[in-house]
Amino acid sequence: MKVSVIGTGYVGLVTGTCLAETGNNVLCVDIDKKKVDKMKKGVVPIYEPHLDVLFQRNIKAKRLNFSTSLKEGVEHGDIIFLALPTPEDGDGSADLSYVLGCASDIGKLLKCYKVIVDKSTVPVGTAERVCEVISSHTDVEFDVVSNPEFLREGFAVDDFLKPERIVIGSSSQKAIELMEKLYKPFVRSGNPIIIMDEKSAELTKYAANSFLATKITFMNEIANFCEKVGADVDKVRAGMGTDSRIGKRFLFPGIGYGGSCFPKDVKALYKSGKDLGYEFDILNAVIKVNDIQKKILIPRIETYFNNDIKGKTFAIWGLAFKPETDDIREAPALYIIEALLSKGANVQVFDPEAMPNVKLKFGNQILYALNKDEATVNADALIICTEWSLFRTPDFDKLKTSLNQPVIFDGRNLYDIKEMQQEGFYYSSIGRETKG
Ligand code: NAD
Repeated sequence: MKVSVIGTGYVGLVTGTCLAETGNNVLCVDIDKKKVDKMKKGVVPIYEPHLDVLFQRNIKAKRLNFSTSLKEGVEHGDIIFLALPTPEDGDGSADLSYVLGCASDIGKLLKCYKVIVDKSTVPVGTAERVCEVISSHTDVEFDVVSNPEFLREGFAVDDFLKPERIVIGSSSQKAIELMEKLYKPFVRSGNPIIIMDEKSAELTKYAANSFLATKITFMNEIANFCEKVGADVDKVRAGMGTDSRIGKRFLFPGIGYGGSCFPKDVKALYKSGKDLGYEFDILNAVIKVNDIQKKILIPRIETYFNNDIKGKTFAIWGLAFKPETDDIREAPALYIIEALLSKGANVQVFDPEAMPNVKLKFGNQILYALNKDEATVNADALIICTEWSLFRTPDFDKLKTSLNQPVIFDGRNLYDIKEMQQEGFYYSSIGRETKG
């Protein structure tokens, strides 16, 4: 099939590449000329494991092409995916200007029947609005489908190739049949394609993300309470997670959720409710608790240093909002860096993939180390913000020599408390006893 993907970020590029991998002829369109030039030269502009191999293979097979021209995109695809940003607007709602602006342009370019697929995360009613916007420019027949994306950065290729489910929201049988044909190769193991109306599909995505954010936040509150009563969240987690109704995943406490989805999606769902006079109390609490959790290490650090961190140096391991991505949107590390800098501290950081993005934000205000060991040289404490595998088993003797003093604030509970005590570290983590 001929497919166009408008917007080639984390979702669009993975979508385009994986659809090319199953034999479709895909044109990826992006407004960012630099990005398109890079892709035309065979360079993947983001870090996403396993994407590069598929990307190269499909470019070589001429099934994956790139353009900055929406006109070419609209002409090329029988199915046109919109994988455009829907960032947080000033009031918490989803900014739909990218999606609706593009819909308007598509309306002006439409010459024959197309299926316009909304892959961006958008509030309930957006498919209807996209439809109205396109219709205002043309009488040509088209269908709009809501097809929310559930991939996780870091596992995006695998998630796309082997999705647990595919959600298709449409009231057009013609469009549903085309979508089923497109997705058939991805559900050979029997995972479902769930067909529903557009509104339910749009809400499914927000409900899923808000539920996951709530699960994380609930566990963070349990962790905070563990510290108050002297319980160990790791043990509580193991005890809870073995209950199949709860499940083991998404129960790891830490310094809050970040990323390009959970924060904005929870806020957007909350705002959608508010606009309709419905107060999502639970989401309000999730937003509030997560904001506090992101900075929870700061008062601890200040207390340890007798409320005077001016001139102290902090090493930070991990900047991305989670491992296996270079995405730093809403990453807790950014909030910690900002707080430390505002209090006059020095910061030296290391992350295997996210440093170029952090450099764009902080420039020369902080030091960028070549590796994790260099980041800790002459630092007064180490702060762990992202659970990259390479931070899990450091050489603690080396770390002690490198740091000015053996102090770790671990926002991701990477180490065993007893071991840290034996190694002679002051070790503060989340929901567990502080040792040292
Ligand atoms: P992104 O910011 O990584 O990519 C968006 C791309 O769209 C950018 O390359 C940008 O240059 C391009 N763009 C902007 N305006 C354009 C235009 N008018 N024409 C063509 N290209 C344009 O965003 P993303 O992370 O891929 O997310 C896209 C959507 O998917 C969002 O709604 C997001 O909530 C949703 N989503 C994201 C994830 C994720 O893990 N990142 C997962 C599921 C759903």
